[in-house]
Amino acid sequence: MSEILEAVVRGAAGDELAGMPLPESYRAAFVRRDDVAMFEGVPSQEKDPRTSLHVGEVPLPELAPDEAYVAVMASAINFNTVWTSIFEPLPTFAFLDRLGRESEWGARHALDHHVVGSDVAGVVLRTGSLVRNWRPGDKVTVHCNHVDDQDPTAHDDSMLANNQRIWGFETNFGGLADITVVKANQLMPKPAHLTWEEAAVNALCNSTAYRMLVSHNGAPVTQGDRVLVWGATGGLGSFAVQYVLNAGATPIGVVSSPEKAELLRDLGVEAVIDRRAKGYRFWKDEHTQDESEWRRFGKDIRDLVGEDPDIVFEHPGRQTMGASVFACKRAGTVVTCAATSGYMIEYDNRHLWMKLKTIKGSHFANYREAWDANRLVCEGKILPPLSAVYPLEEVGEAAYQVHHNLHEGKIGVLCLAPSEGLGIDDPALRARVGEDRITLFRRHGA
Ligand code: NAP
Repeated sequence: MSEILEAVVRGAAGDELAGMPLPESYRAAFVRRDDVAMFEGVPSQEKDPRTSLHVGEVPLPELAPDEAYVAVMASAINFNTVWTSIFEPLPTFAFLDRLGRESEWGARHALDHHVVGSDVAGVVLRTGSLVRNWRPGDKVTVHCNHVDDQDPTAHDDSMLANNQRIWGFETNFGGLADITVVKANQLMPKPAHLTWEEAAVNALCNSTAYRMLVSHNGAPVTQGDRVLVWGATGGLGSFAVQYVLNAGATPIGVVSSPEKAELLRDLGVEAVIDRRAKGYRFWKDEHTQDESEWRRFGKDIRDLVGEDPDIVFEHPGRQTMGASVFACKRAGTVVTCAATSGYMIEYDNRHLWMKLKTIKGSHFANYREAWDANRLVCEGKILPPLSAVYPLEEVGEAAYQVHHNLHEGKIGVLCLAPSEGLGIDDPALRARVGEDRITLFRRHGA
């Protein structure tokens, strides 16, 4: 390990880090351009991230004036790393090549390897000449909205920017590595009461759930609302149910096992549906949906909470969208940010227009939203749903777990952090928030 990274691990001060040379290369998890055809003809479920994700040394790119190098103590698996590693719905090298054509600095990204990862907790190593608010030694988390602030379309809501990208998915030099390159406007303070791995698992999914359920850009929850949350112990869902509870509303959490149902109840969710135990078959076959199954699902929700849901938190996509649109309350909103089970969506439009429902698209979060969502983590009002931790060398296995829905909440990945449990700077706040609450998912997953 290079001298400067060793210094980070032993907790050296920022001034010391600032005076130390940077390494020419660093350890990172990446996919290779040469591999993009490796799974041709293989069904999605059998495409194995363990064979496509490599861990090795890659050259350190030059730093642009508005960027920072961050030494990564811990990172996390997001579903986008699964998409990149199975080359679906398309290889991410096309994104890197497009960025490469945009500018001189963008050209650094168009390489034959793609360093993946869109979450980080770590330490600022160096900042570019335009960076004002951050210094070497600052402990940070990183949100994944990569936006060029010279683009006028970025100045209302940066998620509307023409060149908005997700760092570590649509850009190179992502977070599953010992060093990452980020724009300064992706940096946020690390929650002082959390370990590195607890701090690393929040930014992407927490900010996404915040925009969907708290921000005026999504479908903000009001007290008393009923909110149906698919995948309620998954990456997004485990934050979504916390926002619904914090808002004085009632989550109806859908999960697929008794263990997940128990975890959800421990989190404070009383209305829980185990979709596997219920055996819903929303699709009779690949092409035909079954309205009687939507009705059975809707009745189960009403039996639990008395009414149809005001808001449906959607992301499974093709398998569930028909049921989501049907079950949503008259004039309610289905807010969607994804389509894990297929993006060619089908629903009965009569249930939408006759009952004046809305489908609202949402995607990640702007800096303001990510910052506010991070502040709630910093204050202990949103808990990190960390359930398991892998070393960077086993990143393929960690991605495999998420690909096959074998996990709960979020999976953390240790990069420079030599072990779990390090990085807590505010033990008093940790005690106030409650060790049991902070480690709920980890204890359940262990
Ligand atoms: P995750 O941790 O895998 O959780 C998703 C959960 O959805 C699973 O745990 C599963 O829960 C449930 N699920 C999966 N397939 C389902 C199906 N066919 N029917 C019903 N439920 C199903 O993933 P995540 O991090 O929450 O991400 C979910 C999706 O959102 C991914 O496609 C991801 O790429 C996307 N995403 C988008 C954004 C954005 O900004 N647009 C941000 C984050 C994530 P049960 O098995 O317990 O029901």
